[in-house]
Amino acid sequence: MIQQTRQVYNVVVLGSGPAGLTAAIYAARANLNPLVIDGSQPGGQLMITTDVENFPGFPEGIMGPALIENTRQQAKKFGSEFLYGQVTQVDLDERPFKLVLDDNKEICAKTIIVASGAKANLLGLDSESKYMGFGISACATCDGFFFKGKKVMVVGGGDTALEEAIFLTKFAASVTIIHRRDEFRASRILIDRVKSHSKIDFILNSTVEEFIGNGQKLTGVKLREKFTQKVKDVKCDGVFVAIGHSPNTSIFKDKINLDSNGYILTGNKTTHTSVPGIYACGDVQDSSYRQAITAAGTGCMAAIDAERFLQEHD
Ligand code: NAP
Repeated sequence: MIQQTRQVYNVVVLGSGPAGLTAAIYAARANLNPLVIDGSQPGGQLMITTDVENFPGFPEGIMGPALIENTRQQAKKFGSEFLYGQVTQVDLDERPFKLVLDDNKEICAKTIIVASGAKANLLGLDSESKYMGFGISACATCDGFFFKGKKVMVVGGGDTALEEAIFLTKFAASVTIIHRRDEFRASRILIDRVKSHSKIDFILNSTVEEFIGNGQKLTGVKLREKFTQKVKDVKCDGVFVAIGHSPNTSIFKDKINLDSNGYILTGNKTTHTSVPGIYACGDVQDSSYRQAITAAGTGCMAAIDAERFLQEHD
């Protein structure tokens, strides 16, 4: 049974990565007493990141989880409330908006800031789920360390795949990039770097047909060549799947305007969505920059947009 709370929040923030937490800091400092709903991965993708070296203000770098914890404390200090849980339904037809959580609690909000982020795409093979965490990973910065002196593969041909391949050369003995075409989608500078790297080689026009293992851990992959359709087994100790991300927007499908890849569409130079009073920030509306600092920047914008909406309508 759905349990309704009496309180109507000025601002409910969905997600607690850099975008959501920055929105919370700004909304709290504007005396809007925001509620942050943590989401499926509290802290977001930075929680599975080691050193963050490009966040301004930390010349020595900072660990991803420490950056999140500091930002969370900052949001709390100004009066943000936090609720552990995940929103499973939204009703945007009436105001205040209604959100239902996974424990059936219902929350009412005058404005919503969507900062629910994105998650890594996977190939979807049964053998992939079987060996995920046992040789297969979707995050080189999190798991690269475990492959010291090993032979690893990276699947994908975008910036993420190539960046992960370069990062993995710090640990692995060799890194093979498996790409389904013969051309990379990644930026020129990364292509040049991987091509000239002594530890990196390529298998092009090939897809992973199956992950092979001994029941306990991954031992190799079965690859299919696109033109000859020939299948071959290649031994390796680890595979990093880096084939893009998908935004966490399923609850907003047919409720607010999304692009063809499911990212929330925002108005020119603002965080406005197609529904007045709903704002989007961070990776859930950005398939291009995907940086902690850009997420934080748009989080700030979303809080200002929500505050302006409340000033005009409340
Ligand atoms: P992406 O650009 O969408 O690239 C995904 C790659 O995975 C593509 O090469 C794609 O192949 C391949 N792929 C997709 N589905 C596949 C499947 N089922 N099987 C095999 N291969 C598959 O994703 P991304 O690399 O994560 O980058 C996302 C965005 O973030 C981009 O705009 C990127 O520029 C940006 N980014 C920037 C930086 C940076 O500037 N430092 C770093 C990371 C990401 P096809 O090429 O054949 O489609």
